[in-house]
Amino acid sequence: MGDFDDLLSANADYAADFQLKGFDGVARAGVAIVTCMDSRIDPLGMLGLKPGDAKIFRNPGGRVTVAAMEALVLGAHLLNVQRILVIPHTRCAMASNSESELRARIGESSGQDASWLPLSVVDDQVRALTEDVAKVRSHPLIPDTVAVGGFMYDVDSGRLDQKV
Ligand SMILES: [Zn+2]
Repeated sequence: MGDFDDLLSANADYAADFQLKGFDGVARAGVAIVTCMDSRIDPLGMLGLKPGDAKIFRNPGGRVTVAAMEALVLGAHLLNVQRILVIPHTRCAMASNSESELRARIGESSGQDASWLPLSVVDDQVRALTEDVAKVRSHPLIPDTVAVGGFMYDVDSGRLDQKV
């Protein structure tokens, strides 16, 4: 019995009816999304998209990090990305806890010192979103023809609200 048996079994069913065979991996709908890792978020479903339509980069908080920027530049130049959505969300753990609170909880859970762990907590989500969108728009390798928007996702209603 392996730790992943149930998932591998599900994968066998998935592969038996595999729909994305031969697909070249561009963003078919020209969309890239940066959003949080939160399991309440279905990035494709919330936008009426399907697998193959979008490049999706997720991290705690849905922040435009160096790695996210790398993904967006690749997307814009090599993968057909023409619109970029940055989508943090309501009730995000990264915005409702301080760095020290999160470190204390991880320290309790692990029984180890977690005070050294880098955590990108957010004080003001709309301000952080505004800065993140500006960072993408002003990046020298993101073409001016690419539209960039910042949106707050409400995990209780499923609605997106454009902020930037
Ligand atoms: Zn979150």
